[in-house]
Amino acid sequence: MVSETTILPTGRAARRDGEGAEAGSRRQVRPATEGWTQQLASDGRPALQFASPRRKQPETHLADLSPAERKAKVEELGLPGFRAKQLSTHYFTHCTTDAAAMTDLPASGREELVSALLPPLLTEVRRLRTDDGRTIKFLWRLFDGALVESVLMRYPGRITLCISSQAGCGMNCPFCATGQAGLTRNLSAAEIVDQVVAANKAIADGELGHSRGGEPERVHNIVFMGMGEPLANYKRLMSAIRTLLAPQPDGLGMSARGITVSSVGLVPAIRKLADESIPLTFALSLHAPDDGLRDELIPVNSRWKVDEALDAAHYYFEKTGRRVSIEYALIKDMNDHGWRADLLAQKLNERGRGWVHVNPIPLNPTPGSIWTASERDVTDEFVRRLEAAGIATTLRDTRGKEIDGACGQLAAAE
Ligand code: SAH
Repeated sequence: MVSETTILPTGRAARRDGEGAEAGSRRQVRPATEGWTQQLASDGRPALQFASPRRKQPETHLADLSPAERKAKVEELGLPGFRAKQLSTHYFTHCTTDAAAMTDLPASGREELVSALLPPLLTEVRRLRTDDGRTIKFLWRLFDGALVESVLMRYPGRITLCISSQAGCGMNCPFCATGQAGLTRNLSAAEIVDQVVAANKAIADGELGHSRGGEPERVHNIVFMGMGEPLANYKRLMSAIRTLLAPQPDGLGMSARGITVSSVGLVPAIRKLADESIPLTFALSLHAPDDGLRDELIPVNSRWKVDEALDAAHYYFEKTGRRVSIEYALIKDMNDHGWRADLLAQKLNERGRGWVHVNPIPLNPTPGSIWTASERDVTDEFVRRLEAAGIATTLRDTRGKEIDGACGQLAAAE
């Protein structure tokens, strides 16, 4: 039941948006005309789940705690505080939770220490490979049966891990498989960190193949582009990030620039993130420069509009000096019109120069979805218009489509 409506240039407001003669000839597909029904909450606004339906979190793990809290916990168990650092070295540096391997810890009390501070968090359900073994998707089961995925990708000169911040997602975006499944619960800080430790272990075990020189490798870049809206799980996200950044052995010693937090546009949380003054990379999932379409495409636009989201993204740049990314999934005849590229460029340029770059990405198919990626020439034209307006633009290469591991495809089913 695919129907179409054609946008007719309807007066000055539309023309000011750059909607020209082309608008009459190009179709305008909208979620609502394609059989997508916006779920509404009792207040009549689009349904969004900000609160986690399941409150219960897993047992506290080393990676949920600060170094001082770890020391206190070890002392509570009747052991000297410095054992916390030894345990951290095993976990963060050697990726091990196997008590038998921790021979620098006294045998008596070792098992107790490990079971108290390193409870198993992720149970592997499945591992799928593609791209000649350069992409691996992991499916994990959590203590309560919830499922999450992470995707490990080798690129020339770097290894990137796409991780989940929630089991499911409450943001309800119609083109995203995770968004359509709803929110199960927030991940704990340690469940977030453990995805990285598990990936480092897989790399050390040779699962991604070996580097040219054969030197040991680890995850370099992390993108919070797996399941979930990271800024809807703010406290645990920040706790996990602090541990990822902490120098070894207190954490993974990663660089803030190598960590990308991607958000659908929770404006107050974007500003809060900016005020943390950590030079993380921030990405905003915009997908439409006009509220008319974004209201339908991104339900959270009912709370914070395009201009508010862009102002918050610009604030992020001002506070951190980090260039912001704008994510834009190109959906055929939905958001890929030339006038939208022009309007996007105009809105970005109005706020300054050099503060932002755009990452268009052809839509990845999701199960049962009626929408498809934009045609090649339309994609090229969209990129050309942005570049002509002076906006740095990189068409994103998408990995893992064959194993449903690409952006928007993570549904975590067994
Ligand atoms: N909740 C975060 C992370 C989501 S996933 C956010 O909204 O940013 C990371 C990116 O993949 C987001 O930009 C998201 O909009 C995009 N995405 C979702 N479904 C997609 C699909 N089917 N094809 C391409 N990108 C998609």
